[in-house]
Amino acid sequence: MTAAKKTTSRRPAKKQPVPCPDCGDAGQVSESFQVGGRHKRQSTDRQEALCLTCFGTGQAPD
Ligand SMILES: [Zn+2]
Repeated sequence: MTAAKKTTSRRPAKKQPVPCPDCGDAGQVSESFQVGGRHKRQSTDRQEALCLTCFGTGQAPD
């Protein structure tokens, strides 16, 4: 007779998503851009751009 091996169903530790260091889980970054042809100047406007660090997921890549 073999003793029934009690398997403790231990859940694997749920991996906490790490917020993206660049956009802070927003998935987007607002960046300034330059306008003008010959005389480049920094636009006061900001454009929303997809965060290239997390590709819009808002989570830091592994
Ligand atoms: Zn990001």
